[in-house]
Amino acid sequence: MIFDDNERIVTSDYIDEDSDIEVGLRPHRLEDYVGQEKVKGNLSIFIDAAKERREPLDHVLLYGPPGLGKTTLAGVIANEMGVNIRITSGPAIEKAGDLAAILTNLSQNDILFIDEIHRMSRTVEEILYPAMEDYALDIIIGKGPSAKSIRLDLPKFTLIGATTRAGLLTAPLRDRFGVLARLELYKPEELVRIIKRSADILNVKIDDSGAAEIASRSRGTPRIANRLLKRVRDFAQVSYSGEITAENAAESLKRMEIDEMGLDEIDNKMIMTMIKNFGGGPVGLDTLAATIGEEPNTIEDVYEPYLLQLGYIARTPRGRTVTQAGYEHYNIPMPE
Ligand code: ADP
Repeated sequence: MIFDDNERIVTSDYIDEDSDIEVGLRPHRLEDYVGQEKVKGNLSIFIDAAKERREPLDHVLLYGPPGLGKTTLAGVIANEMGVNIRITSGPAIEKAGDLAAILTNLSQNDILFIDEIHRMSRTVEEILYPAMEDYALDIIIGKGPSAKSIRLDLPKFTLIGATTRAGLLTAPLRDRFGVLARLELYKPEELVRIIKRSADILNVKIDDSGAAEIASRSRGTPRIANRLLKRVRDFAQVSYSGEITAENAAESLKRMEIDEMGLDEIDNKMIMTMIKNFGGGPVGLDTLAATIGEEPNTIEDVYEPYLLQLGYIARTPRGRTVTQAGYEHYNIPMPE
């Protein structure tokens, strides 16, 4: 197998090879959506209440690292509410008119899902304020002193926004969401459930220890778990009887250069740079980013959450540091 350097197998971002699997593996009901118990518990109450009142659900902001199931959850909410969902993204809405067209085409109680909502332009964002608050669209007709503003009524809809960090949103936009739900990295046992469910759908035989082996290397992220499952399946099919076991899963993951904790080259590079160039830190985010040639945002949203959860690095007011556990992972003694 050839791996492109730019296409990290354990990236939590969506890559092309995910397309064929994600469609079939997405859960459609809340009961099939694994984990995130707190968020699910709250949402199911809000959904029941809204359905009883025959009103749209309050606007929901979902935030958390990529691949944790924000898009999936938006689809689940639409299913549970029994309404249509229209999916778009911040960067895809170029002009205010594009958003106006989407909004006027919604039906009563429909859901509008905007992924990467923090990347919407300011002029587009301003259309959203009255739309979210009063279900209204303000249109300016004409130019100069004779310009007139008219207000159009919109159907009552629910906006579900998704972003990697709630702090990336402007305050006026964030304040207009009634429900703010933060998705957490998944626990290994939750990933095991996701992997077994996916294996079932893909018709792959896998035992508990095989699923656990994949889960422990999936960086707490369902998207990565499903991707690794697919890769390991291919490997098991070609080199073994087709059934995934702990042994052949470990073997194939090792070939993909993913270690037992799910760390790969980029994680290694980041931690080793902190250890070798900065004495284990503290090192500022921007300095670290420049040294390893990554965007500060990518480090913060994609690499760091998992390393922080493992406790290999820590965030201090003066920058990032490598912890005792981080040193131990690389078998390097921690300096006094
Ligand atoms: P995000 O929008 O946060 O980047 P997605 O919703 O696209 O993430 O999820 C990526 C994939 O992970 C989906 O295709 C889905 O199959 C799987 N997935 C995500 N969350 C869950 C979950 N809670 N239970 C089962 N599968 C999940």
